[in-house]
Amino acid sequence: MAKYPESLESWREAARIAGRARELGLGLVTPGALRREVAERIESFIRSEGAEPAFPANLSRNVEAAHYTPSPEDDAVFEVGDLVKVDVGAHLNGAIADTAMTVEVGGGRQYQNLIGAVREAVEAGIGRVRAGVAVNDLSLAIEAAIHRRGLKPVTNLTGHTIERYLLHAGKSIPNASGMSAERLEEGEVVAIEPFATNGFGEIGNGEFGNIVRFRLAPPVAEAALSRLFGRFRTLPFTARWVPDEVERKALTRALRKLQSYPVFVERGGGFVAQAEHTVLVLPDGAEVLTR
Ligand code: MN
Ligand code: MN
Repeated sequence: MAKYPESLESWREAARIAGRARELGLGLVTPGALRREVAERIESFIRSEGAEPAFPANLSRNVEAAHYTPSPEDDAVFEVGDLVKVDVGAHLNGAIADTAMTVEVGGGRQYQNLIGAVREAVEAGIGRVRAGVAVNDLSLAIEAAIHRRGLKPVTNLTGHTIERYLLHAGKSIPNASGMSAERLEEGEVVAIEPFATNGFGEIGNGEFGNIVRFRLAPPVAEAALSRLFGRFRTLPFTARWVPDEVERKALTRALRKLQSYPVFVERGGGFVAQAEHTVLVLPDGAEVLTR
């Protein structure tokens, strides 16, 4: 049975905003640009369009595959030759879109093979989408596109279904074959996100990447934390979004009780590229919402 999300038009609108935020971010990632300012400009754009960021703008570099967002004190700049994943999300009342692309800072062409691999892989995956398709068919297509470039998929990062206020819902979309027995259903919203590397093909956990998430509502007695939960619910957020000193301190004290995300780092020290689109599963194909 088809199970399209309620208010489909808000999912489409969130996705249009996320897609434009991605393109804005790709253009801002230039030599000498402050990482924190780029993240803030992406997130401000999303808010100015009437949506909210679904998670902090991820600006992971080089061997970092995902989950780095600048801290409030980050004063580092992008450098020529950095391979940057601009991974952004927007939501409208919990209708979430998630999209990413990779760019080489300074416009060099050192990493054209990696970037080409994920561009081709995400399109190959999208090309297999239709109601009832085996998730493994997408994985096979993604993996083959990356192998054709002589590279490896990152096997322990996956795409995912999305539900209201839930960025990673029930199903995973592996970037390597033989890992899923599931099928896609009509009306599901799915993020397809291949990662390719010239390294080992797996990520491990690095340092804290400044991204946290409530697993559960905090105790009502904790007023500052409750206010934060009211703003972010169970979606990922970051200290940059908490300018209030009392709330920032409460957040710091509560860090161990929240889910905190480490940066994902390629285990063989390989560089990593990523491309991602959010799509809607239709009877005979995909509607690419974040195009
Ligand atoms: Mn995603
Ligand atoms: Mn993403």
